[in-house]
Amino acid sequence: MTRQLMVAGNWKMNLDRNAGRALCAGLASQCRAAHPGVQVVVCPPFPYLGVAGEALAGSAVELGAQNSSNEVSGAFTGEVSAGMLADVGCQWVILGHSERRTIFGETDELISRKVDKALAAGLGVLLCVGELLAERQSNQTEAVLDRQMAGSLAGIDASRLNKVVIAYEPVWAIGTGLTASTEQAQSAHKHLREWLAARYNRTVADATRILYGGSVKPQNARALMEQPDVDGALVGGACLKLDDFLPIVEAARGLRGA
Ligand code: PEP
Repeated sequence: MTRQLMVAGNWKMNLDRNAGRALCAGLASQCRAAHPGVQVVVCPPFPYLGVAGEALAGSAVELGAQNSSNEVSGAFTGEVSAGMLADVGCQWVILGHSERRTIFGETDELISRKVDKALAAGLGVLLCVGELLAERQSNQTEAVLDRQMAGSLAGIDASRLNKVVIAYEPVWAIGTGLTASTEQAQSAHKHLREWLAARYNRTVADATRILYGGSVKPQNARALMEQPDVDGALVGGACLKLDDFLPIVEAARGLRGA
């Protein structure tokens, strides 16, 4: 089974209206037609989803957000529902990012409710999992991944997994300049795929894309995405400049017969 690669950019709380528009316009001009081998997604902050969507219109680049609520609507000041994101043109939402988990205290249980609501709203979900440095050093990586997967996907049945993309993001590699080695990435991705096979079935495991995230740069992107179980990249810092992000997209093009 050939899985289409995905390269997704997480702007986090960066860029402003003009810089975001320019980045999207540049990306759109380079990604006019859909590429059979690579899907490209950008995830700006909420206030810039509209301007990003306009700049991406007519291109093959898809729009995502960085978070959404576990509630559908109502008195939840400061929250943004998945339905609102779909309404303004989002196709994707990142959930369970390590910054949401560690800084904002999101639990697997909360994340699973967000996943449920996002899927119900028709969004695709980029579900992030990954271990802390101390957890890797004490050989707990696989146990942590198992726990996060089981908790974050609790109640999500196999029929809904076709809209879920997993992002393996070792926390020690996010924004640090440290990258997992190709062997570390492949090993974790293979473990996640086997988890999917055990929890769901082999068809789901083979079809589900598992992205790597953590200091992906033009220099290391290709080697990571060449790993058989690495189906693309979730990119933070290097997605903020066209000159960094485009080469990562380019690296994905041409892989897997694309
Ligand atoms: C991220 O935040 O998802 C990420 C991978 O960041 P960076 O590429 O900057 O490590």
